[in-house]
Amino acid sequence: MQYDYIIIGSGMGGLSVANFLAKYNKKVLVLEKHNIPGGLVTSFSRKGVHFDLGIHGLYELKEGQAIPQFMEFWNAPQVEAKPLGGDLKCFIDGKEYDFEHGNVRGSFLKQFPNSKNDVNRIFDIMETIITEMFSGTEAPEPPYDMNLFQLIKFGMNAKKQRPMFMKYGNKDAYKILDLFTTSDELKTIIYSKAPYPMVFMSFAYQWWVYGKNFYPVNGMQAIPDAAVKGLNHLGGELKLNTEVTEILVKDNQAYGVKTKDGTEYHGAVISNASPQFTYEWISDKVAAKKKMKKAISGRKIFEPVAALFMSFDEDKYSLNNLEGISILAKKDYSKRTEEYTPETAPIIIYIYPKREGDEFRSLVALVPISYEYHNYWETEDNRKRGEKYKTLKKEVEKILMDRIGKHMGRDFVDAVSYHELSSPVTYERYTYSKNGSFMGWSVEQSQYGKYLKQRTDIKDLYLVGQWVFPGFGVAGVMASGYYLAKEILKREGIDLKKDFTEYFKDR
Ligand SMILES: Cc1cc2nc3c(=O)[nH]c(=O)nc-3n(C[C@H](O)[C@H](O)[C@H](O)COP(=O)(O)OP(=O)(O)OC[C@H]3O[C@@H](n4cnc5c(N)ncnc54)[C@H](O)[C@@H]3O)c2cc1C
Repeated sequence: MQYDYIIIGSGMGGLSVANFLAKYNKKVLVLEKHNIPGGLVTSFSRKGVHFDLGIHGLYELKEGQAIPQFMEFWNAPQVEAKPLGGDLKCFIDGKEYDFEHGNVRGSFLKQFPNSKNDVNRIFDIMETIITEMFSGTEAPEPPYDMNLFQLIKFGMNAKKQRPMFMKYGNKDAYKILDLFTTSDELKTIIYSKAPYPMVFMSFAYQWWVYGKNFYPVNGMQAIPDAAVKGLNHLGGELKLNTEVTEILVKDNQAYGVKTKDGTEYHGAVISNASPQFTYEWISDKVAAKKKMKKAISGRKIFEPVAALFMSFDEDKYSLNNLEGISILAKKDYSKRTEEYTPETAPIIIYIYPKREGDEFRSLVALVPISYEYHNYWETEDNRKRGEKYKTLKKEVEKILMDRIGKHMGRDFVDAVSYHELSSPVTYERYTYSKNGSFMGWSVEQSQYGKYLKQRTDIKDLYLVGQWVFPGFGVAGVMASGYYLAKEILKREGIDLKKDFTEYFKDR
């Protein structure tokens, strides 16, 4: 079967490039190994309660922001979303701190009366970084597409237009927090928004979007579902339950894929899976494969997460206006994921809005525990999940539930009617995102901004999604689809940037 482009995977990166290409009359086919589209943005239900894989809210769902704009350009239905506006509770070594949405700085100042100057300085700098990030309307070009002159100009402009970002935003957060305050509690609370080693900008962003996020009324699955409707409308095709096992290459040119059942589909290939898996689907006889594997072999991958999905009976325990609960220990802000065990890892619980028709509320606790933990979660080298894996998961679940109970009280735990843990191995098996990474490459200072090119060393084989420019996040991977389509369409004299800009000119 002949197509113009075959896309391996229906994550939001894959669905985005498929929509852009289909809009310009390319014959596209998306192959998805799972029975639903969306990759890391999918939802599932257990015992009548809907859960999302872990994303709790998205600022970019707001009207006029990236996600509705992409959908509109594709003629896809809009995702109905509502603002989130709950409060946060944070425990540091058992001591409780509360944060009111809409008054974050005020809540910090009230609870850290001896560190008022530190709080103000941290929030002033975070706000300036955000203002710098959002100023200017020009979408950036991928750095690898710039020539030397453009790169120098870009660097000089960045220094001039984004001084605070260049001074603090792109440095490791623990170093920057150490500059601003000696209070370990304060540093750890700032870090609690996303407890991973990352550049400071990530925390500035997380605190800024807190209270401004949106949630799709029908859950996160509504986002890929809308993109698929758009794709079908544009004449594109999606085949679910279809796993690609081989990328067909001849004379260093990709010409199609083979699926698990042996069917071949022919056309240029775009992979939305992680490059580590993608390259394994190419024959060893293809010389470029070795070079491509070498180029990514030493790179650091973003640490994964274990997620505890809980259905929560609000008749037994009132959550009031709570949106999040975090449980950490002092100095966690300077630790690495591999140092944590279930007994010590930060626990970040997101409380989702109740879905219409669901009996209980869904809560998801995100816990950074490494992929390598306990012999790859007792799956050994082949990552096969057997009895030992199940037993370990149950043990981890019990430890986490006990820790939650210790902080929130027995009544809180008694209101959990059902719980189930997913490990980093689950995330990897589910999406073929290497090590279960949910952000692609590490976002530490040493790695930050080093994106892979969307073109590979094999002609007609491309990458899309969180491992390529402009990186992770739902809006980010949708933008990666735009950048790749822009490059592909350029060859035919189509200027996607111009079309896209003109489309939204008068807004
Ligand atoms: C816990 C958690 C919290 C997050 N929080 C946020 C947040 O707050 N904000 C935000 O913007 N983002 C967040 N993200 C990140 C965001 O979800 C991801 O960066 C993004 O969704 C990745 O999209 P992708 O298109 O790169 O790939 P993926 O979503 O990984 O999709 C890849 C797809 O390819 C398919 N596939 C792989 N191999 C094959 C094959 N051989 N054949 C067929 N199909 C295949 C997979 O099944 C999958 O559907 C979070 C993610 C998680 C898990």
